[in-house]
Amino acid sequence: MLYSSTRGQAPARSLRELLSRGTAEDGGLYVPEAWPALTADELATLSARPYGEIASDVLTLFGGAEWQEGQFGAGISKALAGFERNDGPPLAQLDDQLWSMELFHGPTFAFKDYALAPLAEAIDRELSLSQKRATVLCATSGDTGAATASAFAERARANAVILFPEGRVSDVQRRQMTCLGATNVLAISVRGDFDDCQSIVKKLYQSEAASKYSYTAVNSINLARILLQTAYYIYASAKVHNACSKPANFVVPSGNFGNIFAGYIAKQMGAPIGKLIVTSNENDVLPRLFETGAMSQSETLPTISPSMDIQVSSNFERMLWILKGRNGKKTQELQQQLSEQGRYELLPAELASLNETFGAMKCEKADALNTMRRIYEQFDKVICPHSATGYFAADQLKADLDGPIVVAETAHAAKFPTAVEEAIGIAPETPAKLAELFSKEETFVTVDATVEAVQNAIDENFATS
Ligand SMILES: *Cc1c(COP(=O)(O)O)cnc(C)c1O
Repeated sequence: MLYSSTRGQAPARSLRELLSRGTAEDGGLYVPEAWPALTADELATLSARPYGEIASDVLTLFGGAEWQEGQFGAGISKALAGFERNDGPPLAQLDDQLWSMELFHGPTFAFKDYALAPLAEAIDRELSLSQKRATVLCATSGDTGAATASAFAERARANAVILFPEGRVSDVQRRQMTCLGATNVLAISVRGDFDDCQSIVKKLYQSEAASKYSYTAVNSINLARILLQTAYYIYASAKVHNACSKPANFVVPSGNFGNIFAGYIAKQMGAPIGKLIVTSNENDVLPRLFETGAMSQSETLPTISPSMDIQVSSNFERMLWILKGRNGKKTQELQQQLSEQGRYELLPAELASLNETFGAMKCEKADALNTMRRIYEQFDKVICPHSATGYFAADQLKADLDGPIVVAETAHAAKFPTAVEEAIGIAPETPAKLAELFSKEETFVTVDATVEAVQNAIDENFATS
């Protein structure tokens, strides 16, 4: 199977080639020519299999013979089998309709691990097969950076450069990126917001230094990462279907539209999925889009759920391309309008089609805090402020949704102790691995939010290696 760019002007490539690529040359994102379908047999037997194998098989469906010949599957299974909870993300039924899917049982306690740990294995495999080195670039609102640093620390063939917005990640998140003591990981605190970091990374891919350093993407613009997340939607919807014979609706705290897009792919492949609900904090660019049809960016506000403090939802470009009938030229025009005028509008029929599959809801601070308290009192469950936006939406929408509702819990509460304490009056229990970060020394550099300043920092650290 081949992958083309959403903007239609770059050469088609295989999944293996995408491992070491960011955006396409035309600035677009790679998308598959078709969705592979799961057979009824696969769906019926799937949820009883080890989770690492499910993820490995999903990638093989997309990667084809070249992927199998390169033996990428074993590394993917191995990375996921190394998690403390290696039997897949825990699913629990909380009441008649409500389920939780805890996606925070990997090495850095957020859902990003389910993709980044196996992705690092696959990139490593690709680099050793091709006898190359690479520099992994990552813009983070907190959790992707932590997962990337952990997944790439001390790998021989790759350096990792992590850009995070100064003062806008939690102390735990920052320390996960700055206390590793790994010489191949460079953490950069950028004087700007997440969208600045993301924009700098996109420009670095297109820069002169890109070929010298072999810049590689691990943000959710990397399609392999999204496909690795597709695995848990397939797994969870199959399990829930076994339990109640109905398609599962998923509620997903969102920022870059990456995680929820992975759910969309699972649905297209035939997994028993009903609606996909996007939730946001005060940075409500997606709920506004789903209500009005207008994608319009405003200033990014700092909130108690920093990993969702995003106004430029990069992955929505993939959905836009689908809504535009897979037309690269039309997608390119709207993306250009977005970057020049900060705005575009969907046609009424496109908006209607979007809302057949998706729903969206914004959850402000007071509602998030109340929800954290309610979930603690009702289910004795301590949740993070991102997951709170999901439980809030599940409660608001339960009358309108047919069948089970699965809330994706995107991070461990202990990553955001201040918000948890404000909500429930007690601090979350902190896993030893997070607690010990506070006795370690931090290493990072701080630079202005420009491509030049970031490139200089990279030159200073990695030019000779
Ligand atoms: C990254 C992240 C999100 C947003 O996910 P997207 O894939 O960008 O939509 C939500 N919650 C947490 C805890 C995250 O780390």
